[in-house]
Amino acid sequence: MKEQIKKHIRILQELGYEYLYTERGMAESDLEERLKKLEELNKVIQECKKCDLYKSRKQAVLGEGNPEAKLMFIGEAPGGDEDKLGRPFVGRAGKLLTRLIEATGHKREEFYITNICKCRPPENRTPTPWEMEACFPYLKQQLEIIQPKVLCLLGSTAARAFLNRHVAITKERGSVINWEGKLVYLTYHPAYVLRNPNAETTLFEDIKKAIELAYS
Ligand code: SF4
Repeated sequence: MKEQIKKHIRILQELGYEYLYTERGMAESDLEERLKKLEELNKVIQECKKCDLYKSRKQAVLGEGNPEAKLMFIGEAPGGDEDKLGRPFVGRAGKLLTRLIEATGHKREEFYITNICKCRPPENRTPTPWEMEACFPYLKQQLEIIQPKVLCLLGSTAARAFLNRHVAITKERGSVINWEGKLVYLTYHPAYVLRNPNAETTLFEDIKKAIELAYS
């Protein structure tokens, strides 16, 4: 835990969070509290059997990043690499997401990255509405702990989980929607962009706008 806290404090200091120097004790204990809650949540999901996805997972994937992030990227579910490594967005789509975040001049560690479903669906199929509903309370707990200002939803499946309706992402990407006091920004899933390279510039611009919204 101490090492994790030191790592996050180092990242936040690099990002210019000066209050860590002036109110260090307070900031550290808040960070420690958030990390502790995330760690507890991680233990719960590793044991979770609320939906059938537990049967084929190697491990559940909670998410990773800054526990005080203003912006959270949310996809639909872990894939094969994520299931193996226990980290979100580390496969080809994740590498594209990381590259595009870095192209905006920011670092991946500055934000929090997670998925609606914490366990990998067999053969990377789309999670069912029931599986997303079963897992959504864990995401809500993450939102309560991290308290991001903006949620960047990657792809139509993540958007549907929040908006409870079908979302045609090619038509609705770029929309900003108020959701329970937070700003929800809709864009493509990086896996879609891997299949449709022409959409890369649009995804990049969307990521840039989501970051601007988070810091405005
Ligand atoms: S996907 Fe979510 S609800 Fe389903 S078993 Fe995994 S952690 Fe539990």
